[in-house]
Amino acid sequence: MKRALLTVAALLFSAAALAATPWQSIRHPISGTPQSIGGFANGCIVGAEPLPLSSPDYQVMRTDQRRYFGHPDLILFIQRLSTQANNLQLGQVLIGDMGMAAGGRFNSGHASHQTGLDVDIWLQLPKSRWSTQQLLKPQPLDLVAADGKSVLARHWQPQIVSLIKLAAKDDQVSRIFVNPAIKKQLCVDAGADRDWLRKVRPWFAHRAHMHVRLRCPPESLECQDQAPPPPGDGCGAELESWFAPKKPGAGAPVKREPPPLPPSCQALLDKHLL
Ligand SMILES: [Zn+2]
Repeated sequence: MKRALLTVAALLFSAAALAATPWQSIRHPISGTPQSIGGFANGCIVGAEPLPLSSPDYQVMRTDQRRYFGHPDLILFIQRLSTQANNLQLGQVLIGDMGMAAGGRFNSGHASHQTGLDVDIWLQLPKSRWSTQQLLKPQPLDLVAADGKSVLARHWQPQIVSLIKLAAKDDQVSRIFVNPAIKKQLCVDAGADRDWLRKVRPWFAHRAHMHVRLRCPPESLECQDQAPPPPGDGCGAELESWFAPKKPGAGAPVKREPPPLPPSCQALLDKHLL
């Protein structure tokens, strides 16, 4: 009986070990000149920095997860955006996942956020600062109606539009992902100033936060950028296609086995795990 229990315990332990990725065991940034390496969904980072956890302009959620590292450009972007948001009195900026200390793959939640250039920023802007408890167990505010076709008027506010617009107008930002219903509402609210909408891309989920992605820093020679989004505000046929009835077999992308790591990331991992 005891032996059976031990076997069960060993199985549970190995299942838990399988679920974790080796990147999670790297607790501190790899020292060196900052370099984002590889692609957003298959890469790593040398010389990451932690986002300062205390700021008058933003608050960081779930710090126990240690997902608050990024390229120095990302740290500067978050600080710049939050200062602007604070100056406009939009409310408290809530920072969610960035990347891990050396980047790499998470065991849950994201396929990207691997090169220290992605950050999730919540689309609720509380008027007062959250307590430590609220920050550790944050409650997302779902902005999208149950049918996925529109935002909920009772949660939508002009400050959300201003925050997304500020982020999209930042030169370092290459793309912002939001739910299609959120993009649809931005298309309505934007008015005559629409260039920034090009960077705001409809994507699955993202009902309570925007995912902001920076372009590759010029000194990061092994960083793989994406092609720019198609020209235009993206409010026409492409957006409509998200609301069309699903074709059989269509839906969220299927999870595949991760591709091989870029050689520099594999080398970094091998060295760390020695
Ligand atoms: Zn994200």
